[in-house]
Amino acid sequence: MVFGFGKQKRVSAADQLASGKWKCVSCDEWHRWPFDLAAFAPDPWPHEVAYEQNGDLRFDGDFLSEDFCILGGKHFMVRAILPVSVIGVPGEFAFGCWSTLSETNFDKYIDGFDAGEYPDAPQWTGWLMNRLADLAPGAEPLGVIVQPQPGRQRPMLWVQDEEHPLAIAQSEGITAERMLEVFGHYGHAPAATEG
Ligand SMILES: [Zn+2]
Repeated sequence: MVFGFGKQKRVSAADQLASGKWKCVSCDEWHRWPFDLAAFAPDPWPHEVAYEQNGDLRFDGDFLSEDFCILGGKHFMVRAILPVSVIGVPGEFAFGCWSTLSETNFDKYIDGFDAGEYPDAPQWTGWLMNRLADLAPGAEPLGVIVQPQPGRQRPMLWVQDEEHPLAIAQSEGITAERMLEVFGHYGHAPAATEG
């Protein structure tokens, strides 16, 4: 990779992340670490992304709000957070994405949602409903543990198959270079570095 001319010098990816900000190649603005990406709807959502209110939740067709999604009145999904840490850099990358839940667990999630209380700290299972760059690129279903959080935080997702690259990324972290590649996948790579 070639960076600019003259007095500009290479700055390592880890330094860029650790410095807390980088000039984006496409947004023409500075991004800050920790930098999050979000999928606004499950990949199979067949309509425009237009949120209804959480409180208007309907079970009789397709529904999408900031936190809940139902398809065909029988597939239940929740907005969650899949964390990935970066080796040697404090803070975590959080991918906002969607997981399925069984109808039973979806009902439990709704029941605890307003109070933000899940007293028995349950660990549900679901399927990841979004691709995550080249960390979870394929169409193969990826099983996740869904942990509802107290205090109206979004549920956390952990990839179940310990051998999967994304599970390894979650348990061991990824390099800063890899993290910047993921950002690049979505068009938020650093522009030429400052000298
Ligand atoms: Zn950007």
